[in-house]
Amino acid sequence: MHVVFDHAEPVARDITTFYFRPQRPVHYMAGQFTEVYLPHAADSRGERRWFTLSSSPTEELLAITTRTAATDSSTYKKGLAQLQPGVELHLAEPMGDFVLPKDPSIPLVFVAAGLGVTPVRSMVKYLSDTGEQRHIRLLYATSHSTDAPFMSLFTAYHLELTRLVRHPEAGYAGLAGSVTTERVLGLAEDLEEPYIYVSGPEPLVEATYKGLIAHGLPNERLIMDYFPGYPQF
Ligand SMILES: Cc1cc2nc3c(=O)[nH]c(=O)nc-3n(C[C@H](O)[C@H](O)[C@H](O)COP(=O)(O)OP(=O)(O)OC[C@H]3O[C@@H](n4cnc5c(N)ncnc54)[C@H](O)[C@@H]3O)c2cc1C
Repeated sequence: MHVVFDHAEPVARDITTFYFRPQRPVHYMAGQFTEVYLPHAADSRGERRWFTLSSSPTEELLAITTRTAATDSSTYKKGLAQLQPGVELHLAEPMGDFVLPKDPSIPLVFVAAGLGVTPVRSMVKYLSDTGEQRHIRLLYATSHSTDAPFMSLFTAYHLELTRLVRHPEAGYAGLAGSVTTERVLGLAEDLEEPYIYVSGPEPLVEATYKGLIAHGLPNERLIMDYFPGYPQF
């Protein structure tokens, strides 16, 4: 699908949301992803990247949210940061099954590590815009306490939020550490047959999935979104 770059907005330290205007109506489900083709003089990582649409189908513009650090970024991320409004780009049709279950009564546990928060933003925004209150617990893990976009949306939606910070600053009073199977099990244990969604860096999602399976959770209630390219959150 053809889109036109509209504008970019910083949403946290080194994290930016890029907005695109589709040339024709796009049908997608909250939580799905696309591939963005960005022609440029690319390093060995190439000219294409997968991104979750952090926007909701209820919003006019499509959006992706990604890391855009000034140092140690790929040529792709540098190119993205230099996009000028009006530039036309090609995106793949949205796809993927990291989406909400049809049955609204199923309790949901979301585990988002770093930029793994993008599909959660899309789904919570969709539910909020359509006025549908579901039972959601979110474990939102970031590297630093300031690296967490979309907090105001999550707070306004009244989901049960647990923040986890891997490198807490001096004086940080909240939970510190990484995502572990035990933490995820702790969030899910008193819920009746919840669906557990985990998204973030591939090694973390892989380890969490294996841990949950080893504890006997059924595969059909585990929905994983693996982000390659980020070794850690
Ligand atoms: C289904 C799916 C959904 C995804 N959704 C998102 C999303 O919503 N948001 C998102 O940000 N990503 C998402 N990703 C991951 C995305 O496709 C990229 O892999 C990721 O953003 C890293 O981008 P980058 O390679 O440009 O590296 P950068 O973001 O520039 O850097 C990431 C890390 O790689 C290191 N690095 C940078 N350049 C190099 C290099 N040339 N060689 C070796 N290491 C390098 C950096 O030091 C840094 O640690 C998704 C992936 C999939 C498969």
